[in-house]
Parts: sequence; structure tokens; C-alpha cells
Amino acid sequence: MHSSTLDILRCPYCGGRLSLVDSLFHRRSGDDLQDGILGCHCCIFPLVDGIPVLHLQSVAIAARNQVQTGQPELARRTMVGIESEADAEAFEAAAASATATYRETVHALGPNFEGGYFLYRFGDPTFLVADAIVRAVGGTVLGGSRRAIDICGGSGHLTRSLLDLSAVPPVLADLYFAKAWLARRFTAPGCEPVCCDGNAPLPFARGAFSFAMCTDAFMYIWTKRQFVGEMSRLIDADGDPGAILIGHTHNLRTWTPSHGQPLTPEGYADLFETIEPRIFGEANLFEDVVRGGPLDLSRRDSAETLNADPALSIVATRHRDVFRAHPIVFPMAARGEFRLNPLYVAEADGDRVRLRLRFPSDDYEQEYRACRRYLPEVADITPSDLDLLPSTVSGRLADLAKQHVILDLPPRYY
Ligand SMILES: [Zn+2]
Repeated sequence: MHSSTLDILRCPYCGGRLSLVDSLFHRRSGDDLQDGILGCHCCIFPLVDGIPVLHLQSVAIAARNQVQTGQPELARRTMVGIESEADAEAFEAAAASATATYRETVHALGPNFEGGYFLYRFGDPTFLVADAIVRAVGGTVLGGSRRAIDICGGSGHLTRSLLDLSAVPPVLADLYFAKAWLARRFTAPGCEPVCCDGNAPLPFARGAFSFAMCTDAFMYIWTKRQFVGEMSRLIDADGDPGAILIGHTHNLRTWTPSHGQPLTPEGYADLFETIEPRIFGEANLFEDVVRGGPLDLSRRDSAETLNADPALSIVATRHRDVFRAHPIVFPMAARGEFRLNPLYVAEADGDRVRLRLRFPSDDYEQEYRACRRYLPEVADITPSDLDLLPSTVSGRLADLAKQHVILDLPPRYY
């Protein structure tokens, strides 16, 4: 963690500033703080492998004791949630390796970690819609130089989109240390991860951000009113207005897999006390994305449309340029590296390679079947392109990128 990040951190319980307790065990190199103890007016928290742990759950207390007694490696083991010695060795070997992939490291974290579909995340319909909204809203309010936060950002798939929108590193906040650690290591290198509880006051200063987002997680937050109040506080700064985005939250009036505790559209609207939000049905936004843009945020979906849509996105802002149509841009140069979408299997066919769409399971197909709207059943590619996709695509490969048959993935993703 860069030491300047302390300027925006606040204790979730007393609101006080946090500083490194110099008299206790710590490791730092220059402006980078690696391990140590952070203190406020009311308590002390551990900083573990560069990630501040700003809650008081039992693992955090155990990790704090381990840091205090000079055992930062054990503290990381505790926070990652590894129980057996063999698993710990597998994870630590992957963590120490310069060549281990995201997939291998996730594998070392155990079979239940990440639910299994992370591999397909960058090409799934939910991600494509969320990415388009993040770029439209975040791109408008961040202006290339203001700070964003991805709350419940998990392992950083959308935090990665934020890296394109501002020169100031985005903050990723999540309760799960291992996910935040993976985000910084693989998915969104350069982000500042913070481990905290979304059901408690958020550990940041008022007005520290211009864009606060939470995607695909809000229906699992119990203290929704407090959470929205906290998002409003985080973007309450002077200058151009900021924005709040709650992306892909479920709708109480419909059923969805992994439903959570969703509200009705008007229930969501009532959470906002100081600013009137606009609620969008995800189906219409998905149509915009499939069409190649623009993403039309000037639309006002009817109550009937919202009531029928299983997934909603909510935008609250006073910025006048957000609620308009935004072009969807396909970068032809990869941020990471272009790779074949893992939903395709390659078969040799003369001097061509035939790519065939193949779902990993019936459950996946059930949940994400909308990807058939943009993923062709079969596609062709030359063997040499498949062996080594260029970092900038054009012609046929650009078309495959626009269809999401090839994806811009973080290096060493799988
Ligand atoms: Zn405190």
C-alpha cells in the first residue's frame, strides 16, 4: 500500500485517521507499506502484505496478533483462509512464483473459491453490460484524473476497467482478502486493495472519491440503506459532481439464480435520500451492447419494464453529462493480452482452425445463455493467429474481438 493511501482511510468505527504504529512490528520499503499495525482513536488493525484489514472479524484479530508478534507470513495465511499445511504450501508456492497463472493460484486456494466460472468472466453477458456502464459513467465523472472505488469488487474484474479511466489508482474494497490479493496480483495490477465489511460504515474519508460503484453484489448486502448513505458520503466532494453506480442487482419481483436479498425497483429508489437515482433494466442495456452501442443512459425505463427485468442497474448523479447516449469503444490494442475465449474449443480443419462454442456445464448455459446473442456457434481462425495472437488486432481478428471470440485478458490469466 502506498503510504499516501492513508490520507483517504478512516476507521469504520470512530472515523479517525489511521497511521502506522511505528513502535510495533512493521515492514516498509520507501513509500510502500507492506506489513504492520494501523491505529486510530479506538482500535488497531493489521496491514497484511500491503492490504489494510479494516474490520474486527475473528480472522482479522488473529492476523493482527500474528503481525504484532512479527509473523506476517502467518498473518497472510490466516487472512487468505487456508487451513491445512498442504494447502498453505501450495498457495505460498504459487504466490512466490513469477510464472504461476491466476487459474493455478485460484486452484491452490481450494475447490470452492470463486465458484468456478471466473475463467469465463471477461466474456459473460453480465460483465459486458457492467463494463459498458462503468466506462460510460466512470469515464464521464472521473475525467481521467479523479479517484474511483469498486466496493465488493471481488477479484477485480471491473476494477480493471477503472484503470483505463483515471491516472489515479482505483481502490478495490472487499471483505475477502484472497480476492483483493488476487486483484492486485493479476486482474487489476496497480489498484489499491482494502479489506473491509460492506455491512459496516466504509473505512474512507468523505469526498475521497468521484465515482463509487458496486456491481453484482448489492443484493447480498443486508444494511442497504447504510451502504447507499456511505456511497453518497464517499463522493461528497467539491467540484464537478461524482456518481454512484449499483450495477447488476437482482429484482425482488423476479427469480434469479443466487438471488440474495433483493428489493423491488421502488425499494431501491427509496434508499437514496439526497439524490434521485435512475434505474435501468439490464435487458435494454444488453441490447445496446449487442448492437455495438451506443449505450443509451438517456432512456427512462417504465415501471413495467423494470418490474419484469431480473437485473437492474442504478445510477445516481448530478453530473449533467451522464444521462445521455455513450459510444461503446472496442480497443484494438490489448491492455493485457488477446486470448481465445475459453468457451471455444479449437479443431483442426485443413489449413484453418475451426472454433466451436462449448459450454462448461448445463448450469453455465442456463445462467449465461444470452452470450449466444454475440458469440457465434462456429468461427474460423488461422493456426498461426491461434498460436500467437498479436497485442493489436485488425481485420478478421478485430471482428473476432468485437464478437468476444477473442478476449483482452490480464497476462497469466489462464
Ligand atoms: Zn477507530
